[in-house]
Amino acid sequence: MQETILRYDSVEISFNGKPVVTDISFSLKNGEILGLVGESGSGKSTLMKAAMGLLGTTGMVTRGDIFYREQNILDISEKEKRKIRGAQIGMIFQDAGASLCPIRTIGEQIYESMRAHKKVTRAEAKEHALDLFEKMNFKDGKRVWDSYPFELSGGMNQRAGIAIAMLMNPPILLADEPTSALDVSVQKQVLSEMKHLRELFGTAIMIVTHDIGVVRAMADKVLVLKDGRKVEYGRAEDVLNHPQDAYTQRLLSAVP
Ligand code: ADP
Ligand code: MG
Repeated sequence: MQETILRYDSVEISFNGKPVVTDISFSLKNGEILGLVGESGSGKSTLMKAAMGLLGTTGMVTRGDIFYREQNILDISEKEKRKIRGAQIGMIFQDAGASLCPIRTIGEQIYESMRAHKKVTRAEAKEHALDLFEKMNFKDGKRVWDSYPFELSGGMNQRAGIAIAMLMNPPILLADEPTSALDVSVQKQVLSEMKHLRELFGTAIMIVTHDIGVVRAMADKVLVLKDGRKVEYGRAEDVLNHPQDAYTQRLLSAVP
């Protein structure tokens, strides 16, 4: 049986006491891919960040629970949260620049990321990273290791970001519009590499996207948000072929 590794139970999230996400429940099983869809401002990023405890000083989960396996991650200390981030749940953002430091090489950043979780030497980190790059069909690993982000293309940086998120082999990867800042020509490649992660490592992926085509190609399940509320949730083929909600029907009919 596939194990449920992430579960939101009637979650409400507020900024400065004002709810922006209301009554959201869903679950993610090992190796499952969940597409999170909805127009700008509907609460997709907020929902995702809550699993990482990254809501900042003004945001908080004001109702409901979020479980990582059996553990309620709203009940644990900041120190325990840090342990889960990276080691259990990796995250990548729309703009690789948001996760990469501009003035340090990719290799230096990989070494730092690994050291935050594990005692490793630089050489061990490099060996591990180059091995991961190779598994991910990420060519030119050695060059990437020595490069600064500005020396690489947007696609290369985003793939480096994915590799960094995967360093500790977390069972969950959260991806917030991972390809929307990229050229169309590299979008497909990055997405197929992400899908490949599931085959390689059994990673469960939650992906925020504007692209219904991405959902169709990748997702097992879909959650559609509108104004912070769930308007649709179910198996991708059911939601895409038989949307129950008028908003989802419009969203789907807007696709060429
Ligand atoms: P999406 O990712 O779907 O575009 P967001 O999750 O970024 O939407 O935002 C959802 C709502 O929460 C928006 O109304 C946004 O203005 C609000 N919001 C997001 N982050 C903050 C914040 N740090 N402080 C106040 N409001 C926020
Ligand atoms: Mg967003």
